[in-house]
Formats: sequence, structure tokens, C-alpha cells
Amino acid sequence: MGGGRGSSRDDRGDRGDRGEGRGEEGGRRGFGRRKVCRFCADKALKVDYKDQAALKYFLTERGKIIPRRISGNCALHQRQVATAIKRARILALLPYSVVHA
Ligand SMILES: [Zn+2]
Repeated sequence: MGGGRGSSRDDRGDRGDRGEGRGEEGGRRGFGRRKVCRFCADKALKVDYKDQAALKYFLTERGKIIPRRISGNCALHQRQVATAIKRARILALLPYSVVHA
């Protein structure tokens, strides 16, 4: 009787190890597309409020500004992009919001 209980304990131990392994994998989630800011990586690339093609890259379908954790921009350039988008909106180059029918 006692031996049977012991073996069941071993099974639980195996399950515990599996769980830990999954946890480590889950911790490193996310899209590793671009870790470095585009503008920092390419010095020739500049934030320009007149360049709507470049700014559109940082807008969602709805016309919202993509957060930097997704865009991969550093704080400095994300701010420059946000400012440029706001200027472009005033000039009617970019939409404030896109409403889907
Ligand atoms: Zn940057």
C-alpha cells in the first residue's frame, strides 16, 4: 500500500517539471521582428511630417498611432513620429480616425 502512494508522488514530480519548462517558453513571448528602432538603425531615415507614406507605417487601420512596444521605436523617435503624425493630421495628410462602415 505504502509503495503505491510513493509511485504516485513520482508522477506528480514529472508533471511539475513539464510545467516549469512551459513557463520559461511563455515568458519569452512577443514578435522579435525589430528590436532596434528603425530611425536609430538607419541614420539616413528621418521623421518627416510631410512623408505620409512613412508615417502611415505607424498608424493602424483605424488611423491610430501604433504604440512603441509594437512599432519597436525608441522613446525619442516614437515621440517624433507621434508629433509628425499630429502635424500631418492638421495638414489633412493623415486621418484623425477611420470609421469602417
Ligand atoms: Zn530611435
